[in-house]
Amino acid sequence: MLTGLIQLSYFLAAVLFIVGLKGMSSPATARQGIIWAGVGMLVATFITFLHPEIHGVGNYVLIIIAIAIGGGLAWKTAQTVQMTDMPQMVALYNGMGGGSAGAIAAVYLLEAQRRLVEAGHGAVYQQMGADVAFLAVLGGLIGSVAFSGSLVAWAKLDGRMKRNSLVPMQQVANIIVFAAMLLAGLWVFLGDGVFPIFLFFALALLFGVFLAVPIGGADMPVVISLFNALTGLAVGFKGYVLGNPALIIAGTVVGAAGMLLTHLMAKAMNRPLRNVLFSGFGTTASAADDGPEGEMKEVGAEDAGYMLAYADRVVIVPGYGMAVAQAQHKIWELVQLLQERDVDVRFAIHPVAGRMPGHMNVLLAEAGVPYDLIFDMEEINEEFKATDVAVVIGANDVVNPAAKHDESSPIYGMPILDVDEAENVLVIKRGRGAGFSGVENKLFYGENTRMVFGDGAKVATRMVAAVKEL
Ligand code: NDP
Repeated sequence: MLTGLIQLSYFLAAVLFIVGLKGMSSPATARQGIIWAGVGMLVATFITFLHPEIHGVGNYVLIIIAIAIGGGLAWKTAQTVQMTDMPQMVALYNGMGGGSAGAIAAVYLLEAQRRLVEAGHGAVYQQMGADVAFLAVLGGLIGSVAFSGSLVAWAKLDGRMKRNSLVPMQQVANIIVFAAMLLAGLWVFLGDGVFPIFLFFALALLFGVFLAVPIGGADMPVVISLFNALTGLAVGFKGYVLGNPALIIAGTVVGAAGMLLTHLMAKAMNRPLRNVLFSGFGTTASAADDGPEGEMKEVGAEDAGYMLAYADRVVIVPGYGMAVAQAQHKIWELVQLLQERDVDVRFAIHPVAGRMPGHMNVLLAEAGVPYDLIFDMEEINEEFKATDVAVVIGANDVVNPAAKHDESSPIYGMPILDVDEAENVLVIKRGRGAGFSGVENKLFYGENTRMVFGDGAKVATRMVAAVKEL
């Protein structure tokens, strides 16, 4: 009876995870989605507590202390994190998921070892069952790689580590560590003794570091999404090892969603996954160019405001700089003023604008911009030709025409917003610096481009004042 209730609760938790994930697919329902998934997590955690003997859960004091420390830290950091630091936080939390899956695998393998010593003979796979032992090793491997790789991604995004670091002889080192890790995994599976287990986990952690260290520039979002998918898979495998259906379903859903997102992002940047992982993109980007020829033409914020006020169609392209400046509120105020003057204003969002998928959508939603004014790249790209003024605020790589025309550019082939096709382009940024990938942007030197130098929020405030004056 109790077992039936527990299985039913796990099923309920799994359904809640799926409903939650579905909700997260649209900005309008994302908040509800998070709540449903959170309730699912609560149900799953609570039920595991109620029936300790199923998973050998026994040490309540330690568990409660761990939940209090982890939950408290997460509560605090989630409340204080800046919107611009969100990707680092995602990388860190994702790493924790992978680390947990790896730790569970380690505990199970060590426990099997202990029983082997008691029994006096045999191998790990005989003690655990071949299928469980295989998934414990595989889940341990994937979880550990996702853990150390995500920590490196966090350190890079947080500016604690150089974005384009390279391990000497990177590809060879990767292959050697990868092969050694697989052999150690086989040794754990077939052998006995704790040494292979420690060696295996050390190599898996090292491989995660080696995998992430050379990846830089614009590839980071893809890598974080990939580690996220790996964490999901590792958790799913752990669900099998623990006989916990909620973990199997939640892990598989996260793994599948992460894989799809990874694929979509790789496509959005026109970077096959093998290039992302093995070509060290970004390491040559900043050195590749001596800078475009020509001059940037400047215009004041007030004149830029007047230009918008007399336009018929305006498209605003936000990027990472809008997040830094927290300019979304002022921009929305500007848009409302323009709408009062019958200007047709829309927002165009590139899939990797900002520093995480959906970054710009979140900011605009926070400022109160209605969803029907926000368009994805494929929906709006054709319309730039018929646009009077395209306003680029804090975006750079995602509007860089080198991606279309310059075969030698590291971002060549990445789909971009065709801002350069608009009749006029206004670019709001603080200085002449390049974007995240370090590649110079010819758009800024274009005949039809005017630069509005200054912090995004300050420029937007001055534009609002100028339009109000009219
Ligand atoms: P970029 O990072 O390419 O450019 C941002 C621009 O904003 C810079 O040119 C900077 O110029 C300007 N800027 C910075 N602060 C301010 C400010 N206060 N006011 C006004 N402007 C400011 O941004 P994009 O959004 O175009 O491109 C995103 C890049 O990040 C892509 O390369 C993408 O691959 C990468 N990335 C994306 C992730 C994602 O999931 N979305 C995750 C990780 C990386 P200046 O300093 O002169 O002001």
